[in-house]
Amino acid sequence: MEENWLDKVEYDLHGKMFLSQTFYLYKETVTTLSTTVENHFNKVMQEISNGLPSIIDNFEDGEDYEFDGAGVGEWTCMVCQVKQAKTANKCSTC
Ligand SMILES: [Zn+2]
Repeated sequence: MEENWLDKVEYDLHGKMFLSQTFYLYKETVTTLSTTVENHFNKVMQEISNGLPSIIDNFEDGEDYEFDGAGVGEWTCMVCQVKQAKTANKCSTC
């Protein structure tokens, strides 16, 4: 939302600026947005200080999230570029 509050301002016959109904509606929208963002931020901060319980809940569903390397197949040593068996967890050459 790219809007300028000055566009919501009106001028009377003498060129004096006054705040129109649109300005107050605009102000209300901005205030609501700020409150929403602030509430969300506070909620996230609260979650973080509680040790992210919603994430912990997801990890406690009985699934095994540990990476066992299954399905990776053979791999190449970054140092010597020699291909290694998929069962090896250390380079056989280095
Ligand atoms: Zn190696």
